[in-house]
Amino acid sequence: MKVIKTADGIIQAVAEAHRSGLSVGFVPTMGALHQGHLSLVRAASETCGLVVVSIFVNPTQFNDPEDLRRYPRDLEGDLRLLEKERTDLVFAPDVKEIYPEPDTRIFDLHPLDQVMEGRFRPGHFNGVAQVVSRLFELVNPDVAFFGRKDFQQLTIIRRLVGILGLKVRIVGCPIIRESDGLAMSSRNQLLSREERAAAPHISQVLREATELTGKMKPEELVTWVTTAVNKHPLLQVEYFEIVDDELLMPVTDWEQKVNKVGCIAVHLGKVRLIDNMVFA
Ligand code: AMP
Repeated sequence: MKVIKTADGIIQAVAEAHRSGLSVGFVPTMGALHQGHLSLVRAASETCGLVVVSIFVNPTQFNDPEDLRRYPRDLEGDLRLLEKERTDLVFAPDVKEIYPEPDTRIFDLHPLDQVMEGRFRPGHFNGVAQVVSRLFELVNPDVAFFGRKDFQQLTIIRRLVGILGLKVRIVGCPIIRESDGLAMSSRNQLLSREERAAAPHISQVLREATELTGKMKPEELVTWVTTAVNKHPLLQVEYFEIVDDELLMPVTDWEQKVNKVGCIAVHLGKVRLIDNMVFA
């Protein structure tokens, strides 16, 4: 496993792999790695000749400076975890390597960036599009792996690839959960003991809700989920929506011939967690 810190370094290393006929699989991350990230690395290593993992906390996708400051960072620990997987290259650049000049590009992600996360984190998805397009330019992957944990992000990345006319294939991977159901997230480290004990309530309510589609209309189920999560004194729902998986528009009728996903954001003290589940 080779750790590369510069833009030129990663361009050259990947070009060499391409020249020798290897397909390049790419897993972009912000570090503080857990089993969710490692599942993406395993998916990449199963299908690609060269596995590249990036670790970069992208400042342009944080709409809250305090969130950026507190975001967990542990490069040494991350490298130890990646050593145990089949990782060939770790790209861990400084901000200057990714953004030699301030990135002022605006991407047309409408309407995908207007709803859910986009409504509460203005500018977030434009920042995601900036960093992902720059990373794709440097790493030039054949396949890139993203978690369905960030479901809206995955939808937006597919759109971005279309806008940029890239050939990269985007693979969406399943959400990895703790044994109590909590979706793994780097932000889980920031939870106090009490908050951590409360957090699995979110996925428990979502799971229960997936069984209630025969009993309630979509809008009633939305209210039911919000009320059930908020019943826990430490949890405060920011939004819950059941949307289709292409345009992220609210589902109004279970008969609609679309894939339906229930997406939630919840505040737990100073931490904000997101999760989602498929609704049949
Ligand atoms: P992040 O480091 O939070 O930017 O995440 C990097 C990648 O890992 C993204 O594609 C995430 O969707 C994915 N990811 C994060 N948590 C999980 C999880 N619990 N299960 C599957 N993928 C995940």
